[in-house]
Amino acid sequence: MHEMSISLDTVNLVVESAKNQGFKKVTAVWLEIGALSCIEAGTIEFCYEIAARDTIAEHSILHIESVAGQAYCFVCATDVILNQRGNACPNCDGFQLQVIQGEELRVKEIEVE
Ligand SMILES: [Zn+2]
Repeated sequence: MHEMSISLDTVNLVVESAKNQGFKKVTAVWLEIGALSCIEAGTIEFCYEIAARDTIAEHSILHIESVAGQAYCFVCATDVILNQRGNACPNCDGFQLQVIQGEELRVKEIEVE
């Protein structure tokens, strides 16, 4: 499962960075997920809990923030909101779009003890 490996990577990253800074426990994690990343937030939450088991991030609270999709339309020559990959430009119905935001998956912040 795609989301499971993402969750494991996230937990590893968080645990490593907390340990490197001398912290013994991770209490909360803020994760940014782009609307165009094809990642299910609900599945991530479920997998994260499993991935965090028996690590210093166990029982930490996962906050997921969604980042809107944005693309540049070559026809309109402007930035437009894109809700889903493959959608047409909301202004001109064109498909000459270049995604500029919304594909990211990023650990934004962690809370430690
Ligand atoms: Zn357009």
